[in-house]
Amino acid sequence: MTLVVREVCAKSILSPSKIYPWVINPYTGCQHGCTYCYARFMKRVTGHREPWGEFVDVKINAPDLLRAAIKTRNRDRVWLSGVCDPYQPLEAEYRLTRQCLEILVRHNWPIIIQTRSPLVLRDLDILRNARDVEAGLSVTTADDRIRQLFEPDAPPIPERLRALEELHNAGVRTYAMIAPVLPGAEGLAGLLKGKIDYVLMDRMNYHYADQIYRDNGMEDALTDGYFYRIRQEFDAL
Ligand code: SF4
Repeated sequence: MTLVVREVCAKSILSPSKIYPWVINPYTGCQHGCTYCYARFMKRVTGHREPWGEFVDVKINAPDLLRAAIKTRNRDRVWLSGVCDPYQPLEAEYRLTRQCLEILVRHNWPIIIQTRSPLVLRDLDILRNARDVEAGLSVTTADDRIRQLFEPDAPPIPERLRALEELHNAGVRTYAMIAPVLPGAEGLAGLLKGKIDYVLMDRMNYHYADQIYRDNGMEDALTDGYFYRIRQEFDAL
């Protein structure tokens, strides 16, 4: 796979969101390239022709834009991130998420992080001193072989569980995002027990990965029955 990386100057960085009041996406595009990803609409919006997962625009002026924006906007919860993973591999080099975090924490803005990567642990020094921060790992299945089918370029499930545990033990409020609930999620509730403060769950709402379900005879995991079975495991905790 060829990754096309472009450094760009964005026009804005702190955007209103329908999920949380504000969202920051330090990158356009996502190296994790999950097969079902809803954010692939960004290809159309930005005019990229590369396949989803094979391009990333790096918003190198994101910290500068944020420093200016927080002077004029109402302080409210900021979501990192909505249409990219803020801790995708390029973040290890560019540290844009880290710089944005530092700015938000310094100005006491509430933050909610959502990632699939244990790279978030690099920023534990900032997170454990933040007044209002929640850190979530997306953990979509208990079976890493299933993860390899649907999210081949995202970090393994055991690494995500370890990251949650470490964050939680450090006193950071943590959550698991189980969305979409992939096949093989049986037992996930037990694996997450003691590592999280709460769970967010949703079923597969997109059709990009339908072929993977069909090719592997896993259509049962698309049914309401499967979703409620997994949800009951969490209700029982
Ligand atoms: S990590 Fe999130 S944004 Fe990135 S490809 Fe996967 S679902 Fe999409």
